[in-house]
Amino acid sequence: MIPFNDPLASYLSRKDEIDQTIRQVLESGWYALGKEVESFEKEFADFHGNEFSAVGLGNGTDAIALALMSLELGPGDEVITVAHTAVATIAAIEQAGCIPVFADIDPITRCICPNSIEARVSKATKAILPVHIYGQPCSMKAVLDLADKFDLSIIEDCAQAHAAEIDGEKVGTFGKLSAFSFYPTKNLGAIGDGGMIICKDEERVDHLKRLRQYGWDDNRQSLHQGVNSRLDELQAAILRVKLRYLGKDNRKRRELASLYDESLENLPLVIPARKEDQLHAMHLYVIECDNRQGLASHLRKKNISTGLHYPLPVHRHPAYEDRIRGSDDLPHTEAFYRRNLSLPLFPEMSEDSIRQIVSEIISWFELN
Ligand SMILES: *Cc1c(COP(=O)(O)O)cnc(C)c1O
Repeated sequence: MIPFNDPLASYLSRKDEIDQTIRQVLESGWYALGKEVESFEKEFADFHGNEFSAVGLGNGTDAIALALMSLELGPGDEVITVAHTAVATIAAIEQAGCIPVFADIDPITRCICPNSIEARVSKATKAILPVHIYGQPCSMKAVLDLADKFDLSIIEDCAQAHAAEIDGEKVGTFGKLSAFSFYPTKNLGAIGDGGMIICKDEERVDHLKRLRQYGWDDNRQSLHQGVNSRLDELQAAILRVKLRYLGKDNRKRRELASLYDESLENLPLVIPARKEDQLHAMHLYVIECDNRQGLASHLRKKNISTGLHYPLPVHRHPAYEDRIRGSDDLPHTEAFYRRNLSLPLFPEMSEDSIRQIVSEIISWFELN
């Protein structure tokens, strides 16, 4: 069976280093918000540039919610984002008490469409939350121009796009705040949950460090209504090891994606767009084709796993149906969700596996 992704392979490829750092944390006797978290925050911030600071959190959903809370956004405040994302993005906006509003996607990048954002802006709009979906950077220049024009904050959802770049600048460096997830299957994945916010404003970082722990200051006095969203020492230590390999892992993802590209580009399907001035993080390799169900079941018979990211856009889930502004005007999102199919892609995957998948896809098209 060719798996869709393989977090175990990721661990095994750095087993010695990870085992060693885990043992050190176990023997240190300090397990949450300690030296490993501080070091990882520093290293992850520096990875994005010296002007950044970082706040380690329990998960990526909290990272988005706390980013909004640190801007003092809440009830009555609208945040424009996409329905083509993990439900987590919308859950986080509502966790912060804000109101999500859906803009459509650009059919090429599958990321938020700037024209659609402009059509949704209202008096209540306070922020734009672009999602770098599948590791594909959004058109940040256009989003920044709109934020300027309407005086809105930008929070980037970088959960799928660690180390992706636009013109040599990493995603996460464009917004006022940026949120990351370290869920095990992400490009930078923990062995459990983890999340991070990066931002340039030291005061906001201090505020976020209080918010993540009951609003506590150094004397454990609660200055704000906070939450509990701590990053633990084991995850931070593991992520410090894996951060050193992120560039290499992403390069491997792009190489494997290129193999897919070369072999699939002449078939009647759409492959992920790649732009000259961008570095795609290739979190997922998602194609579009007419009979994606037929193709998926053919591949399943040949022991090849595929995925759907996602089975439904967020506005079609029962919890969100018919209550989020913008849901009735998402033609590109709707069209995409009839045709999307995610193929296996992870750095430890062999080129032979890709060749095998590609040859099965080609033979399926020949038969159909
Ligand atoms: C994974 C993900 C999140 C949430 O991260 P968790 O760590 O699972 O809470 C948010 N947004 C997107 C786009 C994601 O893929």
